[in-house]
Amino acid sequence: MSHTPSGETKTAYRQRACPGCSATDPTPALIRSHPAAEEMPFDGVMRQWDTGIRAKKGFFSYHRCKTCGQLYCPVYPDDGQLRQLYGSMTPNMSDLPTSCLRHTQEGYLQTLLRHHPAPGDMIEVGPDRGYLAHAVQTLSAVPPRRFWFIEPNLAVHDDLRASIAPLPCDVSVDLNRFNHIPDATAGIAFMVHVLDHLINPLDHLRELHRCLVPGGLLGIVVHDELSMLSRLLGARHPIYCPYHPQLFNPATLAAMLGKAGFDVVEIVPTRNYYPVHFVARTGLSRFGMDWLPVPIPRGFVLPLKLGNIQIIARK
Ligand SMILES: [Zn+2]
Repeated sequence: MSHTPSGETKTAYRQRACPGCSATDPTPALIRSHPAAEEMPFDGVMRQWDTGIRAKKGFFSYHRCKTCGQLYCPVYPDDGQLRQLYGSMTPNMSDLPTSCLRHTQEGYLQTLLRHHPAPGDMIEVGPDRGYLAHAVQTLSAVPPRRFWFIEPNLAVHDDLRASIAPLPCDVSVDLNRFNHIPDATAGIAFMVHVLDHLINPLDHLRELHRCLVPGGLLGIVVHDELSMLSRLLGARHPIYCPYHPQLFNPATLAAMLGKAGFDVVEIVPTRNYYPVHFVARTGLSRFGMDWLPVPIPRGFVLPLKLGNIQIIARK
């Protein structure tokens, strides 16, 4: 970012209205990095974009909408810049053990199944290798007839199809395209850690509402920007990163789902099953203490509440 002779601020990135209510009156920056990503040239942001979760990154500053309370980045790369950034990115492969991923995703499903979704297909946006879809197929009283997956990472498509075989599925890659999914076809829809990443999250929620049958349930998992951990770590928390153009809390998430036409049924903190040494290493690196030896044996797994929330909403 630089200042022109007239004193106004110049940035290489676009100005963005509030994703919750379209207002353009945010507070001053509440959470920022030094330097902030909007102060860096595009190639500087590009160099940091594809570094690991433990690498320190400049991020676009977070402000709060004065109208609706949504926390978001009012300055953020435009669609063309994002295509370049994500296009240069190595597909995100979790280094967590499969058993931990399965356990965590089964927990999301059990929370949703308590509310008895209407029968129908299943839609999942960002299903990765299909751990959640597999759980839906095996744990639901009435399993879906068909699965609709939107998954940009081509490297996981074979695993994804295998996860629900022999049931039929449609796998597409464009996160912004839902028009091949018929109206009122799905009993269950899921987006796990996707909504934080989308530039126009309300559009996606409206599309999912269109695709659900009346009585169908949507399950969404996001980070909670007002969690204890987030208040404790502040700008050091890994949720503040260049990939999250907005972050939610229970109130802003419920408000956005209401705008998309949903009735909110439940909001709960989620549990992540993590190897303890993995959490310890990530935590230490946020404080620049990677060098400290961690005397925790590998294979020690705990359910942790890491400040994530799940919302269940009904059409
Ligand atoms: Zn707003």
